[in-house]
Amino acid sequence: MADVSLAAIRKTYGALEVIKGVDLEIKSGEFVVFVGPSGCGKSTLLRMIAGLEDISSGTLTIGGQQMNDVDPSKRGLAMVFQTYALYPHMTVEQNMGFALRFAGMEKSEIDRRVADAAKILELDALMTRKPGQLSGGQRQRVAIGRAIVRQPDVFLFDEPLSNLDAELRVNMRIEIARLHKELNTTIIYVTHDQVEAMTLADKIVVLRAGKVEQVGTPLSLYDDPDNMFVAGFIGSPK
Ligand code: ADP
Ligand code: MG
Repeated sequence: MADVSLAAIRKTYGALEVIKGVDLEIKSGEFVVFVGPSGCGKSTLLRMIAGLEDISSGTLTIGGQQMNDVDPSKRGLAMVFQTYALYPHMTVEQNMGFALRFAGMEKSEIDRRVADAAKILELDALMTRKPGQLSGGQRQRVAIGRAIVRQPDVFLFDEPLSNLDAELRVNMRIEIARLHKELNTTIIYVTHDQVEAMTLADKIVVLRAGKVEQVGTPLSLYDDPDNMFVAGFIGSPK
């Protein structure tokens, strides 16, 4: 678990400013959802937290430590993407343990972590299968399993369910909520789906054109949106 703090974070690509000064405090154990229309900067912001994009200016702090220039692998994070590339020639078990093997962890510890993650995600019965023998939802669970075994302080999700069909999306949403309860970890979750945001979040951050438009609990944003944009996006009309 860790506090994540963003202070005056900006991102420019040449002359184009895509993140325009974001301040945000995320508490340890909190489930925070970034919502906003396509192109508003959700992924860019998440990728800066992950260390996959440089921060143009401002300060990122995780667990009290300044992280701007810290290697992604040393930030205590694990990220789950919308498109999750599993290794097709490896079994579920091997896919989940791969990053740990690569990092040189002892086999007994890897086996223990993979077994724990498999139990949480109800993948126990599928451990010897290969990705080609799994459904979309099962594959996405393996992708989440790969993140869980790393025991990160913070999980970052970028639209992890948007490639799944509607019914699976509902089931996975319930699983992710359960995961958050069981692991009691900090989650930063990007989506453009209002229903996902409303059902999962402790706190919703509404982004618009690279800026934070409003931050609040799902209920407070619904009941008391600051403006028409927020109202149109999640709230009832003001
Ligand atoms: P979202 O995830 O909310 O849909 P993104 O964070 O992907 O939005 O993108 C925010 C803005 O930054 C968009 O206008 C996008 O075109 C721009 N952008 C993203 N990556 C780059 C890049 N590598 N070079 C230039 N512009 C980029
Ligand atoms: Mg995106």
